Amino acid sequence: MGVREGFEELYGAAPDGVWAAPGRVNLIGEYTDFNEGFVMPLALPHTAVAAVSRRDDGVLRLHSADIEGPIVELHLDRLQPLTNTSWAAYPAGVVWALREAGHTSVTGADVHLASTVPTGAGLSSSAALEVVIALALNDLYELGLTRPELAKLSQHAENDFVGVPCGIMDQTASACCTDGHALHLDCRDLSIRQVPFDLASQGLSLLVVDTRVKHALGDGEYAERREGCEEGARLLGVSHLRDVAYEGLDAALARLSDERVRRYVRHVVSDDHRVEQVIGLLDAGDVRAIGPVLTEGHASLRDDLRISCDELDLVVATANSAGALGSRMTGGGFGGSAIVLVEVADVDTVTKAVGEAFAAAGFTAPRVFPAVPSAGARRIS
Ligand code: ADP
Ligand code: MG
Repeated sequence: MGVREGFEELYGAAPDGVWAAPGRVNLIGEYTDFNEGFVMPLALPHTAVAAVSRRDDGVLRLHSADIEGPIVELHLDRLQPLTNTSWAAYPAGVVWALREAGHTSVTGADVHLASTVPTGAGLSSSAALEVVIALALNDLYELGLTRPELAKLSQHAENDFVGVPCGIMDQTASACCTDGHALHLDCRDLSIRQVPFDLASQGLSLLVVDTRVKHALGDGEYAERREGCEEGARLLGVSHLRDVAYEGLDAALARLSDERVRRYVRHVVSDDHRVEQVIGLLDAGDVRAIGPVLTEGHASLRDDLRISCDELDLVVATANSAGALGSRMTGGGFGGSAIVLVEVADVDTVTKAVGEAFAAAGFTAPRVFPAVPSAGARRIS
């Protein structure tokens, strides 16, 4: 059953409309966002789809086809940050963030949604969920907010209502990406540029390999890396590591005595540089040449930032020796997904090699699918 039909069955009337917002993978630029650096995500074909109607009585009703349970009913004047630990906190947080920002004309909604974005695989199912609600309410209540503004409000919802300290990349990707492009996002001024990333016409594929593991270790590690990067910026006398020029990296590293901080600084500054390298190559139409840059990015995440894990390292090592052009872990690390750039002709060989390596290591079979650069959030009916 589609979400439109599901909505009608649940609420007894047709929805005012149906919207979709995608998950994303990050091509390059990891843990650079909170350092006010560069990232380069692309939207996936996988989306959260929401059927939504307005309400004028201060009530928010939420239902997900993907979660067992009845309709969740909330009252807008009683929304309290950090109190709701269920999935409903994500859409409720968006309504809260809109009203906090002064959009008190938002007086309620009925929502039924379903998503094809795998959850907890580092592909931002949470941002897809937030952005689809933000866009639906923006349209229904004629708020006139821009895509970047909707992204910012969605991030505010996740940070301060749900309580997850994510950067701005995921929501911006879901809101602003376009078909056939990767999105260059400058996390300092939030300026964006669509960079052509046409894989199909080049005979290339970008595979997502979801390792289907999430190591518990990951939770406190993000905060630790963040703190280490802030420490690095402080020691180097800059507001954020973005301000350390790649050309001056060796000199900067020589000034840092703490080995851990030195590694983090080297990762962030070199990954910002890799984003610029990838953009240069894509603008020049040399898509194949980004492969080695991706693999260098993985080494940096593994050895300097130390956020990889055995499963992710195995994907990268196996894919590259089976003929991939390059690969790296993507997202927060300690599990989740890797991306693999590969000739279309080699997709089967590489996929098979990774599957066999996982079986031999006794790991859960990974899920592999192509990351076709897709459109950002949109109204679909
Ligand atoms: P990621 O964003 O990497 O997929 P998160 O932990 O940030 O992982 O977000 C996953 C959470 O988002 C889920 O635990 C759930 O609360 C919510 N979520 C995602 N998709 C759905 C869905 N289709 N229905 C209900 N909740 C969802
Ligand atoms: Mg998330």
